Amino acid sequence: MIRSLILFLICSSWIYAQDMVSPTPLQQAIKTESSLIKDQLISLRRDLHQHPEIAGNEKRTSAVISKLLNDLGLEVHEAVGGYGVVGILKTDKPGKHIAWRADIDALSTNLEEDPADFKSVNKGVRHICGHDVHTTIALGIAHSLTQLKAQLSGTYYFVFQPAEENITGAKAMLDDGLLDLIQPDEFFALHMTPFPTGIVATKPGELYAHYKKVVVRLDTQDPKIIDAVKEQMRTLTTVKDTMFGKDSSFEDPIKGIVGTESIYQKYSFRESDIWAQQEGEQTILHTYYSFSDDAALSDAGLQLQNLFDHEELSTYIKSCDFEPVSYVLKNHPETTRAALETLQQQFPQQTLELSGVFPGGRSDDFALFLDKVPGTYFFVGATDVEKNIIAMPHAPFFQVDEKVIGQSVEIFGWLMAKRARSPR
Ligand SMILES: [Zn+2]
Ligand SMILES: [Zn+2]
Repeated sequence: MIRSLILFLICSSWIYAQDMVSPTPLQQAIKTESSLIKDQLISLRRDLHQHPEIAGNEKRTSAVISKLLNDLGLEVHEAVGGYGVVGILKTDKPGKHIAWRADIDALSTNLEEDPADFKSVNKGVRHICGHDVHTTIALGIAHSLTQLKAQLSGTYYFVFQPAEENITGAKAMLDDGLLDLIQPDEFFALHMTPFPTGIVATKPGELYAHYKKVVVRLDTQDPKIIDAVKEQMRTLTTVKDTMFGKDSSFEDPIKGIVGTESIYQKYSFRESDIWAQQEGEQTILHTYYSFSDDAALSDAGLQLQNLFDHEELSTYIKSCDFEPVSYVLKNHPETTRAALETLQQQFPQQTLELSGVFPGGRSDDFALFLDKVPGTYFFVGATDVEKNIIAMPHAPFFQVDEKVIGQSVEIFGWLMAKRARSPR
């Protein structure tokens, strides 16, 4: 499915439909700076890839980051929420304070061997979510903007977050006073995705669906009642089409995730079987759902609550609960609209506004930063199908097209510089 989505995107005329835009002097300067350190960035990424550290253990990674930020002459704060590091670049001119988040941890994995030549030296640990690349891009932006400080306005914060994979790092940084150290007006982050290299995709509001465990407790073990309640739980699914799998609409140009009439815009979708578990005299039913947004979630909640009024079932229903499984990541509507417009001006060929919300339970605790500060999370393509490089997070074959590093430094360095020029 992912391969055909990628091919669809590559073959789609929209990628090639628009004319090239000449770079602005600032954009050109950032491009030049990033190309001067191209080889160092690739070496840095490979070094991080060879020395991956799992959530909460990012000692070496954190030390590498601190050293590079200190070498740049930035104000550096270490040990923020564990192995978190913050670098601050101040210019002499007024302007917005723009923050960039990179997550720095790797995954514990016994999956098959890394296809890359620069393999992990830490047995059972690998960067299969691309955080080595995220870290490198953030350091590349910090380097390029520092060299161009005299031409810039505002203040820049580079936030290196540990422990994203177990969704504890963002909270730890906030609890440790991150927002006393920095006062961002806007907060940005990116994640590698299987789109073609250089594609930058996002949308206002939810990017990943709300993912919930739905739990219904019944005061009976009667199979007929259990089946009737299961049937009610099945009605929460509002899409007829298969969202993933063989007959998926995912890459359909009209109904798919980038389509004009995307079925991924508004939905409730059951992601698993409904399991029944006996507990004393009770039966507990549970399953997992994706909900595109608050409205879909509250519709489903109301529907389940109606079971309490159901004449045959109500006496057996003890409770219906929606338990959170992950944080809900919501892009700020105005900031995201402004960021998309800024990117579309200079990078029309790469910028893609998504129409749908990804089902399937993925999220990112960057969500907690977006709860406090307006901002945007971007998906960045790092896939080259012809070279068999597929940036599918957590997949054993996960690899990144390293061209994405230089491109991202240019694109997001420019975005940060441009956004910082607006008054606070
Ligand atoms: Zn991950
Ligand atoms: Zn990740």
